[in-house]
Amino acid sequence: MGKNRTGEISEAGEIRRWMQALALTAVLMAYPVSALWESEEAGAEVQEEMQTEAQAGMKTEAREEASGVRPMVALTFDDGPSPEYTPLLLDGLREREVRASFFVIGSNIEKEGGEEIIRRMHEEGHLIGNHTWHHVDLSGLSTEDAWRELEMTDSRIREITGEETELVRPPFGEFPQGMEEPDKLYVKWTVDSRDWVTKDTQEIVRKVVTDTEENDIILMHDCYGTSVEAALQIIDILRERGYEFVTVDRLLLE
Ligand SMILES: [Zn+2]
Repeated sequence: MGKNRTGEISEAGEIRRWMQALALTAVLMAYPVSALWESEEAGAEVQEEMQTEAQAGMKTEAREEASGVRPMVALTFDDGPSPEYTPLLLDGLREREVRASFFVIGSNIEKEGGEEIIRRMHEEGHLIGNHTWHHVDLSGLSTEDAWRELEMTDSRIREITGEETELVRPPFGEFPQGMEEPDKLYVKWTVDSRDWVTKDTQEIVRKVVTDTEENDIILMHDCYGTSVEAALQIIDILRERGYEFVTVDRLLLE
């Protein structure tokens, strides 16, 4: 299929994902309903979409089920908040009524406008996750230092939103060794946009819309203008193909 899964999806990875899903169930019980995306699309429009998809020869089990059930994907953004680009992305997401997941760097929140961006993410229903305070490889730190990286970021987010951050994405995808935190959900990705390497809007769009399949978790970065522009185009293209964009917690529960 030409799908580049960057080796993250091993059998062990799948098992981990299920375990994570179980852990998340408890998290969601404390979740405000307003924070979860609900489709308000008219049934007729969905049926029309499904017909178009059938004509295009695309079929998934989800599409064959009752109308309104669409294949889901999640956009995730690392390394923000960026005072320059994140607000533009939030504008585009709001326009499209799409919710995404943001793994933020604690020290970036301290930059001018950072706190306001976190507040806005929360108010607009996006999921906020922890990407450490200094964007460090946790596996290279002592347990104590690694824990501090996560805790400082957690408490800063909690100060602003009033809620616990349950999601963690360790920088460089490296999990901390010997410091499992059972109340945290570690989130990796299944589609790497390589946006930080190419910094080319059309190349990012091409790669993601080619690689993405149902239930994929797409990795992007909201600190580049090219990524923001690409993300909005990706939403428009994949929605046309029948996909629904959800926060990453929804996918981990599937
Ligand atoms: Zn990062």
